[in-house]
Amino acid sequence: FKASHAKRTLVDDFDFVAGGELGTGALSVVKKVLHKRTGDHFACKCVDKHRLSLKMRKALVAEATLMRELDHPNVVKLWHCYEDSRYFHIVMDLIQGGELFDRIVAKDYYNEREARDVVRTLLDVLGYLHYECAIVHRDIKPENILCVCTKDDTRIKLCDFGFAVRLDNANSTACLTKLCGTPQYVAPEILRRVPYGAAVDLWSVGVVSYILLSGYAPFGDQPSLSDNIINANYSFCTQSWARVSNEGKDFIGHLLTANPANRITAEEALIHPWIAEDGSLLEEHD
Ligand code: ADP
Ligand code: MG
Repeated sequence: FKASHAKRTLVDDFDFVAGGELGTGALSVVKKVLHKRTGDHFACKCVDKHRLSLKMRKALVAEATLMRELDHPNVVKLWHCYEDSRYFHIVMDLIQGGELFDRIVAKDYYNEREARDVVRTLLDVLGYLHYECAIVHRDIKPENILCVCTKDDTRIKLCDFGFAVRLDNANSTACLTKLCGTPQYVAPEILRRVPYGAAVDLWSVGVVSYILLSGYAPFGDQPSLSDNIINANYSFCTQSWARVSNEGKDFIGHLLTANPANRITAEEALIHPWIAEDGSLLEEHD
């Protein structure tokens, strides 16, 4: 673990803020910390080393190394890494507004304009990751999208690069094979166990868009979940979709396309009319 300060540990520079638990992941707890010297608040991902296999340790180091190189206004910024006898600590920007997941639950669903703003930002981030960094995130979902503040539901930052990888060859569209992600959001080519590439993130954006606009997930639950994903078997049949414009449905259709070769890229999605044009349709259907 390449620590920023060779011998310093987290508590040399930061205090934990009482009651400041921000979230939990499979193996981590994220807590609010105070930088002693400046009085600024940050978020710290705390990972208990005793719970990690050697492979998981390597994955965590890879996550921190990759995140440290990223520089985008809508990607959570990593500032410092520390390691002591028990924990890895990853200090990041504190994002105050909580998960997009909770925001959707609280609102039931987003109107088209709000959904469009969130998705446009997400596509902008993917444009940066895919084209400028040759990185595939592989775990795009509302739990990993953080809201910047409580007042505005559309300002977001992407976090959790635990499954992210850099492609060796930036032009390579299908070179990854690892089975990873989250069941509701995983792309069909990953389930089919064929080599895949950056297009898997666009599929997940399709699922997130569907959930934002309707309040429910497109492919149902197990046991039919995997089959539904592989066949891109979803519909716009329920009442929820009556209030959504044809452009919105068309946009989702281009993302939830089973064959990754036919799925739109981040670049193409950014110029789709639903994203690019501030049409009056959005108003009429709200
Ligand atoms: P895991 O890889 O274990 O899923 P995450 O990096 O996703 O861990 O962090 C777990 C949760 O902690 C997130 O879903 C979010 O709720 C919260 N969280 C993560 N990073 C931050 C941050 N920088 N600011 C505020 N909350 C955060
Ligand atoms: Mg996570």
